[in-house]
Amino acid sequence: MGMSIIITIGGVVAVAIVAAVMMYGLPLAIRALQERRWGSIDGVLALTYDDGPDGVTTGQLLDLLDEKSVPATFYLVGFRAELNGEMLRRLRESGHQLATHTHSHKNAWKKPFWFEYRDAMRGYETLSGVVSEREAYRPPFGKITLLTWLGMRLRGRRVHWWTVPANDTLDSFDDPAVVAGRMLDSGERVVLMHCHHDEPHRREYMLALTRYLIDGARDRGLRLVTMRELEGGVVA
Ligand SMILES: [Zn+2]
Repeated sequence: MGMSIIITIGGVVAVAIVAAVMMYGLPLAIRALQERRWGSIDGVLALTYDDGPDGVTTGQLLDLLDEKSVPATFYLVGFRAELNGEMLRRLRESGHQLATHTHSHKNAWKKPFWFEYRDAMRGYETLSGVVSEREAYRPPFGKITLLTWLGMRLRGRRVHWWTVPANDTLDSFDDPAVVAGRMLDSGERVVLMHCHHDEPHRREYMLALTRYLIDGARDRGLRLVTMRELEGGVVA
């Protein structure tokens, strides 16, 4: 009797561990494969911006991208889109690639396992006027569950991470010219930045880094692309 209870408990624990590894661990492997695949594409650089739209930073970034005639990819947050309708309209008319980044921007690993999937789906609903049904999804903080990954893939949506973070949400930064040069020289393909910043020093850093990345990429003969173009390059 006692022994069978122990075996039963052992079985339950084993199943729970396998489920957790699949739910949280498999996406890590998928992410590593994606980074490798993107790393094998030559001659391109994708500038990507999360967490917008906001009332100030997004507009200044759009001005800069216009000035430089560079396409970028934006992963928008549903609740911020609801708060910044004017900027959302400007984004829609900008011609940049617009994708989703959930509705409420929570870390999937700090919520019950079903939370992210529902919040990701809600993001597509909130953003349905500007983001097409098949557009890509980027998980907040890069944290995703297998449930969400499968849910997106079954709907023909890609899940995007990045190859290098700009760390523009920190409080102290290296010289943006040096950071941009380092990223370009080490062959990074997809740079993660943010187009929502309340703090002026972070906003200034992100804008300066964007400028150095664009100029540096052109000096090196790289093509500045959206994620759609970059992924098209994988297939070609
Ligand atoms: Zn984010």
